[in-house]
Amino acid sequence: MSREVVGMAGNEIFDVAVIGGGPSGATAANDLARRGHSVLLLDKAGRIKPCGGAIPPKLVDDFGIPHDLLVARIAGARIISPKNRCVDMPIEGGYVGMVDRDVFDEWLRRRAAINGAQRVSGTFERVLKGDGGTSTVHYRPKGAAPDAPVEAVRARTVIGADGALSAVARQCVKGADRMPFVFAYHEIVRTPETFDASYDPTRCDVYYNGRMSPDFYSWIFPHGQTMSIGTGSAHKGFSLRGAVGDLRSITGLDNAETIRREGAPIPLKPLGRWDDGRNVLLAGDAAGVVAPASGEGIYYAMLGGRLAADATEEFLRSGDARALRQARRRFMRVHGPVFWILGIMQTYWYGNDDRRERFVRICNDRDVQTLTWDAYMNKELVKARPIAHVRIFFKNLAHLTGLASA
Ligand SMILES: Cc1cc2nc3c(=O)[nH]c(=O)nc-3n(C[C@H](O)[C@H](O)[C@H](O)COP(=O)(O)OP(=O)(O)OC[C@H]3O[C@@H](n4cnc5c(N)ncnc54)[C@H](O)[C@@H]3O)c2cc1C
Repeated sequence: MSREVVGMAGNEIFDVAVIGGGPSGATAANDLARRGHSVLLLDKAGRIKPCGGAIPPKLVDDFGIPHDLLVARIAGARIISPKNRCVDMPIEGGYVGMVDRDVFDEWLRRRAAINGAQRVSGTFERVLKGDGGTSTVHYRPKGAAPDAPVEAVRARTVIGADGALSAVARQCVKGADRMPFVFAYHEIVRTPETFDASYDPTRCDVYYNGRMSPDFYSWIFPHGQTMSIGTGSAHKGFSLRGAVGDLRSITGLDNAETIRREGAPIPLKPLGRWDDGRNVLLAGDAAGVVAPASGEGIYYAMLGGRLAADATEEFLRSGDARALRQARRRFMRVHGPVFWILGIMQTYWYGNDDRRERFVRICNDRDVQTLTWDAYMNKELVKARPIAHVRIFFKNLAHLTGLASA
């Protein structure tokens, strides 16, 4: 069905149209605009991304995030097993930052605009091939009447950063419609003024318990004035709401004021291809880039946005569409092995309560704690500690084979 289309910016052809202004899209738009490219940044606007908001210090440093965007600095995690065994994992020489996504994402988009990106609020509808290797992006402006004509802009390249259910990916990249997901749900509650003495506003609590998630984990993340209480699962019939209700009840948070209830899918596996071989490239959740086992996606989305910007710039310079493939290649070279290990961990350790019990026991090990936090904070396997890696390998083996007592 053809629908009337009107142009937005005369005959301007943007170097890049970025679809989606979350961490990946806003980062790509900012990097490209700063380097002098003409960039359109299209975002739906108005919906807060459901997210625990935990970010590593490397993100804060690498992407120039001001510390006043951190609503909490986490000094450690408490891991809780199915039998209620608690293991504390203090962070030495670092922290986990907590951001509120409404404020954080808007700050990223505003920075991109200050650096020259043209922001537009509206919903992406489709991308069509245009003349001279360009594309035409059709979108519905925010607030437009349902029968109003859609708007259209032309761009030499398109970055699809429109999240886990990316319409750009489904239209342009083969296989994107078969992306596997975990569905995550959380409730934002106001932090009670009086709380039981074990509460620590600088500690994340992570529950490994089949009752609260048969295949993932549940969490309570402090955000200063508020908290994120959530869980995830790929099991279709599992009641995420019921599980979060149970978690609130056992932690005495059932009567805390609920501010929002929200959920969203988390991709489980990076797509095999992030570009369409012509002029469209995906980034962030749209490309399936979230760490298995942890569900951490903000850092990887921003890195994906940055690598998409680099690859796009190279494509604009050379006109060679193979340049777009570099984004995935560079990402997977560094993070592919870690994603692979985390995928195996998720399948094995989150398989049943017996294994969860043993997993929590492993977390009591100093070497495991140090390497876990190092890997989280620095986003690389720490080559400087080969002996610790070997020790952990044998300890893991002992647990996997049941030689270590539970
Ligand atoms: C409940 C939950 C908890 C999580 N907790 C954490 C955590 O603690 N730490 C962490 O690192 N990761 C966490 N994640 C994962 C993290 O939220 C994502 O990986 C990250 O947001 C991906 O960023 P993105 O920019 O790729 O996509 P998104 O953040 O989803 O941004 C996509 C953007 O595209 C826009 N958009 C979508 N469709 C359209 C359209 N048709 N037209 C125009 N714009 C559009 C949206 O408005 C949005 O701004 C969590 C996820 C969930 C669901």
